[in-house]
Amino acid sequence: MQETLSNYIDGQWQPSTASETAPIHNPATAEVIARVPMSPGAEVDRAARAAQAAFEEWRRVPAVDRVQFLFKLKHLLEEHMDAIARCITNECGKTYDESAGEMRRAIENVETACGIPTLMQGWNNEDIARGIDEHMFRQPIGPVAIIAPFNFPGMIPFWFLPYALATGCCAIVKPSDKCPVAQQHIFRLIEGIGLPPGVIQLVNGGKETVDAILDHPAIRAVSMVGSTPTARYIYRRAAENGKRAQCQGGAKNPVVVMPDADYDSAVRILSDSAYGCAGQRCLALSVAITVGEARDVFRERFAEATAARVVGYGLDKGVQTGPVISAESKARLEKAIEEATAEGASILVDGRGKKVPGYENGYFLHPTLLDNVPHNGRTATTELFGPVFSLMHADTLEDAIAMVNDRTYGNMASIFTSSGAAARKFRAEVAAGNIGVNIGVAAPMAFFPFSGWRASFFGDLHGQGKHAVEFFTETKVVVERWPKEWSRKF
Ligand code: NAD
Repeated sequence: MQETLSNYIDGQWQPSTASETAPIHNPATAEVIARVPMSPGAEVDRAARAAQAAFEEWRRVPAVDRVQFLFKLKHLLEEHMDAIARCITNECGKTYDESAGEMRRAIENVETACGIPTLMQGWNNEDIARGIDEHMFRQPIGPVAIIAPFNFPGMIPFWFLPYALATGCCAIVKPSDKCPVAQQHIFRLIEGIGLPPGVIQLVNGGKETVDAILDHPAIRAVSMVGSTPTARYIYRRAAENGKRAQCQGGAKNPVVVMPDADYDSAVRILSDSAYGCAGQRCLALSVAITVGEARDVFRERFAEATAARVVGYGLDKGVQTGPVISAESKARLEKAIEEATAEGASILVDGRGKKVPGYENGYFLHPTLLDNVPHNGRTATTELFGPVFSLMHADTLEDAIAMVNDRTYGNMASIFTSSGAAARKFRAEVAAGNIGVNIGVAAPMAFFPFSGWRASFFGDLHGQGKHAVEFFTETKVVVERWPKEWSRKF
């Protein structure tokens, strides 16, 4: 029997009273590595009450003192990077380098939040009228909750958590119910930084747990990342309950390949974007629109790169693409490939039905390349979230931009070109919140907002950096007068 993960509530590790647990599989071997409890609402209630109680004291701790806990956390995360990265690979399937890379990004957010004494500063004006001054302060919003997806189980809570802590909020993390093990490890480190009980808590679970968070009156704000239907649902229910919400949704990211692109680097970078993390990145490019003469040369070279990808267990040396998250996900992707052919696409490289020696039970789908994918068909418009890449074609850059903009998602779009004018036009006209110019995964650094648009985002303020600081704070404006005659007393 595998370990059932615990919750961390009010400064203590507590086994959940959940009647239901779900298995966590290593997707490379299909072995069960842990079980996650579907924590009931009563456990969310306990965490929310503890957060509410801790908040009154925590918000009065000076910002310069609050960030001392983050400095300690940064050092612990650095020290334990290897163990956490291995843990991410074993629950999520990505390669060791990809796992370590995501923890690097998590740490960058901790570092950025350490600047909170400056980031949280307000504004003021002396003499807005004779003898009257006006100030704006930022105050923490209160207890908040963070709901995470499976695909970056170490990093994504850190798009929010360090900022919540630094601004003086108390936070409850609800990790993905598919990949909850890395946060268990990280919370063992958080336990060691000496925060007061209730400031940061961990509650595992699924829909019932999330609904209890969304309905709890003490929780003032919700940060969520996941698929678009879940993001839409959580945003709506949180808003109905008067909470502030930021919900980052799914994606279907296009790349335009111009005839003047540097094909060597484009093929190398795009194959990592498409097939790295087994295509399970919200910033994976999954559709290429080749322009003019780029069509034939890019297709041929990308097909070679697709077939050459080394697929296997992420802790083995030289592996470039790991398994997808589950047997269901693999079956869904294989069905999507079948459906693509039914709507007229041809398969240039077929990744189905291939085994990885030594890992015959793993959820592997080898990289798959589809050509002539119809622009408005299901394949081109649905988020597949796996190592399946589609090729489409346009005669001009204008046509390609029109195709990019004719879609529901707006997480990221990229262009590969050596023309500054083409890149500038693309940057100006494309309806997506993260833009790459000769970049395959245009992931904003911690001090920039993670700027999804359209169906990729519900809310106003995004995760990371100054947006996160604004999200976790309320503005308070003070207008103040001290009549002259009063000063005569002193
Ligand atoms: P998901 O929507 O299934 O789950 C996300 C979270 O919501 C999990 O914690 C889950 O337990 C919870 N949840 C799921 N269904 C729920 C429901 N009906 N009611 C309440 N809570 C529910 O997403 P996932 O499969 O874990 O993650 C992959 C998705 O996340 C992809 O669509 C990907 O594009 C997206 N994603 C987006 C970004 C971004 O920044 N925009 C980043 C990473 C991943």
